[in-house]
Amino acid sequence: MSKPKVVILGAGYGGLVTTIRLQKQIRSGELDVILVNKHDYHYITTHLHMPAAGTDHHDNARVEISELIDERKVRFVKSTVKQILPQEKKVVLSDEILSYDYLVVGLGSETETFGIPGMKEYAMSIKSINSVRFIRQHIEYMFAKYKMQPHRKDYLTFVVGGAGFTGTEFVGELADRIPVLSRTYDVDPAMVKIFNVEASPSALPPGLPSDLVEYGMDVMRRKGVQYKLAAPIKECTSEGVILGNGEFIRSATVIWSGGIRGNSLLEQAGFDVQRGRVKVDTYLRSFQYPEVFITGDCSIVMDRDGSPYPANAQIAVQQGYNAARNLISAVRNKPLKPFVYDYKGTVASLGRGEAVGLLKVKKVKGKFAALLKKVIDARYLFLIGGIPLVWKKMIFKQKATT
Ligand code: FAD
Ligand code: NAD
Repeated sequence: MSKPKVVILGAGYGGLVTTIRLQKQIRSGELDVILVNKHDYHYITTHLHMPAAGTDHHDNARVEISELIDERKVRFVKSTVKQILPQEKKVVLSDEILSYDYLVVGLGSETETFGIPGMKEYAMSIKSINSVRFIRQHIEYMFAKYKMQPHRKDYLTFVVGGAGFTGTEFVGELADRIPVLSRTYDVDPAMVKIFNVEASPSALPPGLPSDLVEYGMDVMRRKGVQYKLAAPIKECTSEGVILGNGEFIRSATVIWSGGIRGNSLLEQAGFDVQRGRVKVDTYLRSFQYPEVFITGDCSIVMDRDGSPYPANAQIAVQQGYNAARNLISAVRNKPLKPFVYDYKGTVASLGRGEAVGLLKVKKVKGKFAALLKKVIDARYLFLIGGIPLVWKKMIFKQKATT
């Protein structure tokens, strides 16, 4: 009898944790497990704001997939998913077609630009190892260019659109990076401007208590960040951004962190989506195709009040645990276990040695919060790769390039 075949799309938080849990728990010969990812490494998205600003090396934010999977139990296919055909139980990759009995979709998110003119064309986003390498080099190049054309103040003006988690964490790192770049390129740091532009009246992620928001904004302002609040970006051009009130900020660098949507492959496959994400049942399955499990940023899980939980790594990891367990139960004809999100809290980094957040409901800030953030990072590395990975990525790590 042929073994049931599980295909997992995406080796991000949801897909990778599903794979690692499956390989730990399946009996020999029980399942065929195939993991598909477009790179041969897993990237630690929660770390990407640092290499984007250049305060850390991008290699510290990625791990070879071969270091994490047991190739006797999992076949890894490095390829790009082109199409999902749920009615035929097939997936089209760039160079082969895979059929499945069970599918796990963990293809992450795409940048949401809300149709803002010019945003796709002229802004950069923190999305992947490739995108953060590009951003880091672009920023550095702006310093070099300014020295050749000192009348071009826009080379030293940096606009970050969106002051949610991603925008805030990146701005904190960028502000820390400016003194180093200023020294390297003989630039007066006072010439450098960082604008964090936010549509809502307050910066920092929604849900943080107002005193933590104030604390966070104070930290940022002391580092030289200028906020533009209640100031939605209306248009992005090759020369800068236009705000809702008509103000124009001339800048050669726009980083857009205004939001995300689910991977467009799901909508193209005919799944019912809201902003590209699929509302899943209590076992993380598609309502339309119960053999399809959906994890991470591609999925929507509702809280008790019927509002969607935010898309983050914490929920994606927990979904990975649940999906693996339920896949095994499904194969063994055992009852499935409902997914229950265990919210442990949230911490936003504000740059070196500073952070704010909530540990469950307890407020944390400053050095303690920054340390907590490191502990959270270490815990994840331990979960996927044990102590050796924690040592490699956090202790004996690569130095930032300049
Ligand atoms: P991802 O981790 O994005 O993984 C998707 C995978 O699918 C990737 O490996 C990608 O290469 C692959 N893929 C995509 N398309 C294809 C294709 N067509 N074919 C093949 N492979 C494909 N959340 C937190 O909880 N805490 C944090 O501190 C935090 N910090 C963050 C910092 C930044 C800068 C950013 C951008 C996000 C942060 N988040 C954080 C959010 C968190 O990273 C995401 O919610 C999480 O990565 C979602 O996991 P996922 O498994 O859905 O997708
Ligand atoms: P987000 O949607 O959480 O925040 C986007 C921000 O951009 C919002 O504050 C929004 O008001 C603003 N915005 C939207 N349109 C705008 C416009 N036209 N002009 C100016 N501002 C505009 O997106 P994100 O920060 O990328 O986060 C995405 C997900 O990743 C979230 O669910 C978040 O929880 C998660 N995340 C978590 C962490 C963490 O836990 N430390 C870090 C990064 C991301």
